Amino acid sequence: MDSERDTERLADACATVGGLVGDRAESWDLAGLLPEQVLRQLAGRGLLCPQVSATDGGLGFDSLLTGEYTAHVGALCGSLRSVLTSQAMAAWTVQRFADARQRRTYLAQLTHGRLAALGFSETTAGSDLSAIGTRILRDGDTLVVTGEKVWMTAACYADLFLVLGRFEEGAAVVVVPVSAPGVQVERIANPLGCRAAGHANVRFDAVHLPSDNLLGGTAQSLSMLVTTALAAGRLSVAWGCVGILRACLAAATAHARTRRQFGKVLAEHQLIGSHLAELFAAEQVSTRTCEHASRCWDAHSADMVAAIVVAKYVSARNAVRGAARAVQVLASAGARDGHLVARAYRDAKLMEIIEGSNEICQLMLAEHALSVT
Ligand code: FAD
Repeated sequence: MDSERDTERLADACATVGGLVGDRAESWDLAGLLPEQVLRQLAGRGLLCPQVSATDGGLGFDSLLTGEYTAHVGALCGSLRSVLTSQAMAAWTVQRFADARQRRTYLAQLTHGRLAALGFSETTAGSDLSAIGTRILRDGDTLVVTGEKVWMTAACYADLFLVLGRFEEGAAVVVVPVSAPGVQVERIANPLGCRAAGHANVRFDAVHLPSDNLLGGTAQSLSMLVTTALAAGRLSVAWGCVGILRACLAAATAHARTRRQFGKVLAEHQLIGSHLAELFAAEQVSTRTCEHASRCWDAHSADMVAAIVVAKYVSARNAVRGAARAVQVLASAGARDGHLVARAYRDAKLMEIIEGSNEICQLMLAEHALSVT
């Protein structure tokens, strides 16, 4: 984000999403549902994948601009930020693996109102995606997809599923319209957090598709497909955690300034000051690690993969601890289902599980440390 023009574009995007969310995130969380028209309006303006280039129909935000926008959405509504992350991962997977015609077709759809969800995880393949059992087979001029994906974010809202499966000697991602015969979507009831993000398990029972729906048309390496898609998801989640921290910091400071106990406002009690200081430091550290990762992304730096894992690991841990501090400062004032800090507390915990759990991030960082030092 370098120019005045970028600052204006970011402000416009944030104002648009802010206007559409308003003060409704709490009611969406309680209902477990995002309004279809809000999602369609955002998707129709390219605001669910702003990083897609202008030539491909997007807004052409760089990673830093996309990150600040993601943090803004994350501060407003964790469920909407989850849908944004899902769409960003889908767009990035298309950008990286589709051929020119597929790229034009699918990116135009994703920047003009259609929604996508990613199906990688399976019941027996969570952290270890090399264990996936979903199969994509050629049958003459068509493809046949069989398998079951679990915990697909945004699947309840999506028009398209990007499904990872075994294909020939390697793997591939295939685009499956939700309307294809043999697709069954089963909503996950009452998730711990991001309750309105439309998580679902999806079965694919011998789903027949045109062979054109296979991204890139050939088999790819499974680990390359997974690593590429997850890099975009990790960075998006990391910036979403920055948003959680900013929202928690704002709520905690506002409360500490006004709530009086023992004859003075909470902010004047030093133990409350300690919570605010830790929250502030967590937000600052997370922002800096995310900015560094985004700069690495924009520069195509060799350090990018490690920088993204650091950003995701640090920001998710900070968001969990920061949200807990915010709940502590607000106490009974925030201890109500749907309240901003209560949502942050629940939503943040999930960020330590998805797109590479804390433990998987630690394993990757240990391996990196051993290779570079
Ligand atoms: P497991 O892999 O069974 O791990 C259980 C625990 O063991 C974890 O703490 C893990 O860190 C730890 N562990 C595993 N292996 C090791 C190891 N080698 N060393 C040390 N510890 C280890 N999937 C999708 O495909 N698309 C989505 O859109 C999507 N959205 C999601 C949204 C939410 C809210 C959630 C909860 C999940 C989502 N997932 C999605 C699935 C998610 O990617 C997996 O939950 C995640 O990869 C972890 O897999 P698992 O839950 O099966 O845990």
